[in-house]
Amino acid sequence: MGSPARRRSRPKIAHPPRRPKLLLPYWESKHSLQGADNVTQFERAKSGEITPEMKFVAQREDLPEELIRSEVARGRMVIPANTVHLTKRLEPMAIGIAALTKINANIGNSAVTSDEQTELEKLHMAVHHGADTVMDLSTGKNIDTIRQAIIDASPVPIGTVPIYQMLEELGGDIDDMRPQHFLDMCEKQAKQGVDYMTVHSGLLQEHLSLTMQRITGIVSRGGSLIARWMMTHRQQNPLYTHFEDLCDIFRQYDVTWSLGDGLRPGSIADASDEAQFAELHVLGELTRRAWKKGCQVMVEGPGHVPMDQIDMNIKRQMEECDEAPFYVLGPLVTDIAPGYDHITSAIGAALAGWSGAAMLCYVTPKEHLGLPDAEDVKQGVIAYKIAAHAADLARHRKNARVRDDALSRARFNFDWNEQFRLSLDPETARKYHDQTLPQDTFKSAHFCSMCGPKYCSMKITQDIRDMAAAEATNGTESEPVAIQLP
Ligand code: SF4
Repeated sequence: MGSPARRRSRPKIAHPPRRPKLLLPYWESKHSLQGADNVTQFERAKSGEITPEMKFVAQREDLPEELIRSEVARGRMVIPANTVHLTKRLEPMAIGIAALTKINANIGNSAVTSDEQTELEKLHMAVHHGADTVMDLSTGKNIDTIRQAIIDASPVPIGTVPIYQMLEELGGDIDDMRPQHFLDMCEKQAKQGVDYMTVHSGLLQEHLSLTMQRITGIVSRGGSLIARWMMTHRQQNPLYTHFEDLCDIFRQYDVTWSLGDGLRPGSIADASDEAQFAELHVLGELTRRAWKKGCQVMVEGPGHVPMDQIDMNIKRQMEECDEAPFYVLGPLVTDIAPGYDHITSAIGAALAGWSGAAMLCYVTPKEHLGLPDAEDVKQGVIAYKIAAHAADLARHRKNARVRDDALSRARFNFDWNEQFRLSLDPETARKYHDQTLPQDTFKSAHFCSMCGPKYCSMKITQDIRDMAAAEATNGTESEPVAIQLP
């Protein structure tokens, strides 16, 4: 048995809060913006207003309200909060370099599989395990119904890629698209309450030839569709030429731009190439144009990038896009592990977060292989919670280490239940422990089945400390040995 000192109870920290305890329930402060001059969080921040959403975010992030306002006004932070979704269950959150690193989980059906109930289960799984935003990437049947159910149920911002639903409604042939089709779809989704939309406005006609030597060409679904449209019609990208019209729709509902990276690399060999950076340059121009129109903006990034190029990619995005929040997809740091791409990408995501990426889009074990189910969603979210938290630790974010220290103390004190409680995935931690030592008595045992009682190094360490403490108490502490200098 260990000494009483080892088992001295320390103040337990609450399970790390996913939702802060607020001074006032958020919904009491909701108000209508109809008829207001400044609609978006960006416009209101620039006018000097600290909105209820900014106050809420300040509490969640444990940051001063004025800092949140100034970061939003600077364009370095976004609060994706469609004014329609705000009247429902949305709990505002922030994405930006001053905030904690966020993660996104993608859900949505495909033409082959899934339905409303399954997608709601995935939403629940994602939010339960800590996803900060969720993208509905549905491309199958009943998209409107599924999305409405997701928005109505979701406390986190919902993102979409409007071109997917537009293509469904056009009957599947992108060549039939007219600019008005796309504008109408964005307006329809904005009215539903979508908080941010990925639009591939930065991919231009002149970029297409730059992709010809790539191994994997254009891997973004939206990017490849727009590329095909431009080739067929021999015209410039309509999502670029109608950018200001799209801004007008986004501003009306405070939909946040997620400027899509249609030319992101889809393989290690294609990373950081001319095509990728040509598009990034345009995304910088579009960021400034969206700000001029009063919109909130974040910018999407790669993709597949070897570890030694990740920091350079983040810094280049910050430079090109005036530090608008960077929302990275992974990146995967190797191409050779289908079935484990939640791991290959979480490595890249942790490095990207450390370098300054504001949000990490998860990848599941099914990436490149099939539509993720609820268990895949869980695996992806956990992998990315690890990546985001590791980045926050490396960036010395305020209080980021509190949970690590509490868990480490519980571990050293052999307080197994507390260790499980503080885990990102308590069920799995408990399950693994119980596979070999299921009885309750082992929940305070000073060893586990990995090393066994005789070789438990933490128990041996504690015994050494106990011996030293006993010697000090008895006055038998040995004198320090004098070191003889030559
Ligand atoms: S037995 Fe080994 S793994 Fe288990 S608690 Fe002790 S040191 Fe840790």
